[in-house]
Amino acid sequence: IPAPATSRAQSQPAISFEFFPPKTAEMENSLWETISRLAPLTPNFVSVTYGAGGSTRERTHSTIARILKETDLLPAAHLTCVGAARSEIDDIVGRYHETGVRHIVALRGDPPGGIGTPYLTHPDGYQTSPELVAGIKKRFPDIEVSVSAYPEKHPESRNFDADIDTLKAKVDAGATRAITQVFFDNDLYFRYLDRVRARGIDIPIVPGIMPMHNFKQARNFVTRAGTTVPNWLAEKFDGLDDDAETRKLVAATVVAGQVQKLNKHGVDTFHFYTMNRADLVFAICHLLGIRPAGAQKAA
Ligand code: FAD
Repeated sequence: IPAPATSRAQSQPAISFEFFPPKTAEMENSLWETISRLAPLTPNFVSVTYGAGGSTRERTHSTIARILKETDLLPAAHLTCVGAARSEIDDIVGRYHETGVRHIVALRGDPPGGIGTPYLTHPDGYQTSPELVAGIKKRFPDIEVSVSAYPEKHPESRNFDADIDTLKAKVDAGATRAITQVFFDNDLYFRYLDRVRARGIDIPIVPGIMPMHNFKQARNFVTRAGTTVPNWLAEKFDGLDDDAETRKLVAATVVAGQVQKLNKHGVDTFHFYTMNRADLVFAICHLLGIRPAGAQKAA
């Protein structure tokens, strides 16, 4: 995948893309088609998730290694505290550092028994996400650490204050960027941002944007993670269960509206949950004025 010929104009929003590690050879091909299509949009970084309970440890690593080897993209590896001793996590981080990775998205992770079950820490493990952030930064100060943020608060948080206390602890431990859980109501994001800034947290709180290729599936998934799906949004997909083509057009319209409104109100950085698909994300970036680097040069 060729190096981007130019970097984007300053006035254009900065973007990053999230992928998940593919399970099969077919999924891997499809991910790499997606990466080829999106790479010329010159994202700041691309991140690769870490399966619940560490289930994709090797696949996350090999996807990251291939991105480093075959592209000029800057990869960020997601990592959680779940189901592993500190020494194992430290080894993973060390291996990433050796491979050339300089960005980790550090998370506590979901309960090993699944969302909704109590979170059980590993007896020898990192107990919390701030501990993980501190553990990474202590050994490798040159690794940039991003963390999560929850505009609707994390479902396990007692209240917003407790939630934002955790974010503050992650920042104090060395995190320099937070990426939000998906949200569909921009007001939730802006209210959250006010609370975060009032608490003295000044790192970028990058909105996590999810184009929904399959509304019903996405709704189940995000609702379990604590995201509200407003009625007005569900209504837009009413009657489209068997009409993937129209669903796609509607999804593009909805998300384009969301990012354009955020952008109009001063948000200049977006993180896209791509679900390993390029088409909607590419279209939405286009609407934000972002063009492939080569095309921009030609223009
Ligand atoms: P934290 O930020 O540590 O905690 C979130 C909130 O929960 C805190 O504000 C805190 O108040 C509250 N809390 C935590 N523990 C307790 C407790 N014991 N009692 C009371 N309240 C508590 N998951 C994966 O498995 N792999 C991934 O790659 C992955 N990537 C993600 C990327 C992003 C951008 C986001 C937003 C989430 C991602 N997740 C991923 C999901 C994440 O692991 C879950 O949401 C998990 O439940 C919380 O991990 P965290 O680091 O976000 O939590």
